[in-house]
Amino acid sequence: MSESKVSVLRSAALARCPRCGQGPLFRQVLVLRDNCSHCGLDYAFIDTGDGPAVFAIFILGFVVLGAALWFEFTFNPAVWMHVVLWGLLTPLFALGLLRFLKGLLTALQYKHKAEEGRLVR
Ligand SMILES: [Zn+2]
Repeated sequence: MSESKVSVLRSAALARCPRCGQGPLFRQVLVLRDNCSHCGLDYAFIDTGDGPAVFAIFILGFVVLGAALWFEFTFNPAVWMHVVLWGLLTPLFALGLLRFLKGLLTALQYKHKAEEGRLVR
């Protein structure tokens, strides 16, 4: 892996290759491509594990619960309005946030050359 001049945040926000910043990172919403279509970087090194999901759970829990409480105490809506509103918004927020966090952890993994430890190279 070579040194990257691409911003980690830019790469994550646009879901682009961490090396060139041009090729798309995902082939579907959250499914990684096999390699970069622009520079050919092999994405096989990418292993974000459960990292994006853990961060997304904490961030979404804080934001959605806070928004639901604000909505409840500001407008005092019927319960079904909470169910419809948060039942639709939460999965949309989750997908967007997971996509961003997966791109962010991928770019950070590439930038810092993070990988499993080995005794012999
Ligand atoms: Zn690339």
